[in-house]
Amino acid sequence: MFDPRAIRKDFPILSRTVHGKPLVYLDNAATSQKPRQVVQALAECYESYNSNVHRGVHTLSMEATDRYEAARKKVAEFIHAPSDRQIIFTRNTTESINLVAHTWARERLGQGDEVLTTEMEHHSNLVPWQQVAAERGARLRFIPVTPEGTLDLSTLDSLLNERTRLVAAVHTSNVLGTINPIQELARRAHEAGALMLVDGAQSVPHMPVDVQALDCDFLAFSAHKMLGPTGIGVLYVKESVLEGMEPFLRGGEMVREVWYERATWNELPFRFEAGTPNFADAIALGAAVDYLNALGMDSVRQHEVEITRYALEAFRELEDVEVLGPRDGNLRGGLIAFSVSGAHPHDLGTFLDREGIALRTGHHCVMPLHRKLGLTASARASFYVYNVSEEVDTLVHGLKRALDYFTHAVRRAR
Ligand code: PMP
Repeated sequence: MFDPRAIRKDFPILSRTVHGKPLVYLDNAATSQKPRQVVQALAECYESYNSNVHRGVHTLSMEATDRYEAARKKVAEFIHAPSDRQIIFTRNTTESINLVAHTWARERLGQGDEVLTTEMEHHSNLVPWQQVAAERGARLRFIPVTPEGTLDLSTLDSLLNERTRLVAAVHTSNVLGTINPIQELARRAHEAGALMLVDGAQSVPHMPVDVQALDCDFLAFSAHKMLGPTGIGVLYVKESVLEGMEPFLRGGEMVREVWYERATWNELPFRFEAGTPNFADAIALGAAVDYLNALGMDSVRQHEVEITRYALEAFRELEDVEVLGPRDGNLRGGLIAFSVSGAHPHDLGTFLDREGIALRTGHHCVMPLHRKLGLTASARASFYVYNVSEEVDTLVHGLKRALDYFTHAVRRAR
């Protein structure tokens, strides 16, 4: 049975205090905490078989290589990829998307071609397209966000056309929490002759994701948001697309044969992993995948739906708080961003930190959407497998105290 209280015991950091108060960690959308099992996998790698992968015939190198490739297989199975040849290890979501922009997009986009993205993208899924579009004379277009915080799909008829080469969309928004209809977007993209890229940074850690069911061509995500270590990310690419892509970075290991004047490329996916890969963190990501599989991704999702519904209900008591995104807990991932009239999010964040509550404040790397909503910043509480409803109570209690404090501070200043 899924029991967040038992899960918490695997996370030593959750028993620390902050400013003398028990830590209430609600910044999981920025990065998750790591269970002992992941930290142990990392320590075991360095303590017992550390050696460069794919290079040596000696025992340690073969052990490290086996574990590295086993991690790739685990990741492939986790997202239901048909083959582990389609899993490229990168540093994070950002690098995964940049890889596609610098290779596939740079080769395929021409003057007047279009990349269709959305008004709710993280800078990671916007700025790379701005750059490649400017370089190739292509145009960026945007699916609008409705006042309810969902994508306005009625605009697709006019936005998708024979010039659209790529649709690039976030699966779960890290501000609105909205879970976007990727399957439908991919179908419409393919009908128009375009490919579909999914930013899965906030979806893969939190719900079952099946790349074959979604029928996406690219999926990017980060280990550090799914109980894994920092410094390791994933790019999934459909094999037929990957076969035709030129390498991103060039150097050792990504080559098959090298002459002084030229080189040929290694097989998939090694063609896209130049230099010594971050095998230790990839192996620890494999341990994180094992951990999530043992919990069951359906249960992970169910837990987040429940705690988010509970929090949305509790937030109704807070008069000066406006929740961003859909009201229905079923339509959103496990995060709630909100604005507070009368208090700047940073001041709120600092106040709540004194209560031991870790909350994200700022624009969350989604400046254009905040601008569209008439905000410069917001506060965000985001949940994961170890969060319990009492922590939501602590947050709501802290918010009430903060609102009281700031209302009186404004009165005092008058
Ligand atoms: N996309 C989304 C939706 C995100 O929430 C984030 C992380 N905040 C990213 C992309 C970027 O992830 P990373 O910093 O690990 O590259």
